[in-house]
Amino acid sequence: MLVYSVPKGGLNKGVIIPLIFQCPQECVCKSSKPTQAWYHKKCGDPSFITENGDILCKNHLKDCSGYFIQDAFFQCNKARQSNTWYQHKSRSQLLMALSFALNAAEHNLDQNALNQFTKNILDSVQKRFHN
Ligand SMILES: [Zn+2]
Ligand SMILES: [Zn+2]
Repeated sequence: MLVYSVPKGGLNKGVIIPLIFQCPQECVCKSSKPTQAWYHKKCGDPSFITENGDILCKNHLKDCSGYFIQDAFFQCNKARQSNTWYQHKSRSQLLMALSFALNAAEHNLDQNALNQFTKNILDSVQKRFHN
C-alpha cells in the first residue's frame, strides 16, 4: 500500500492515501469495526483515494479508470461469501468512513500533507456529493 507505487497523472493529483475504510452500514457483517484496505474490484490491486475524492489503483493510467468515492462499491470478507457489494449512501456515512482512512494515513504522511488532504477531501465531498 505504498502511495508512490501509483503513477502520477490522470486523476492522481495532489496528495493520495491508501483507502482504509469502514464497511457501509448495510453490510452483512453488521460491524462498525472492520476497517480494512479496499481493493479494486476489477484488478484486485489496492485502492487509494485522492484529495479530490477519486479512488484509483496503480493501473489507473492503463487498464483501470478512477471514480468518485460516492460511486464506489465495497465488499468485506463477510460480504464476499454472498458476493454482495455495498455503497456508502449518505454524505455523513462517507465522511465517517473517511475519518478512518485519515487516521490510518497519519503514520504515512507528514503533517502538512495530511492537513492539505483533510481540507481538500472535505471540500471535494461537499461539492461533488450528489443526492
Ligand atoms: Zn462488512
Ligand atoms: Zn484497478
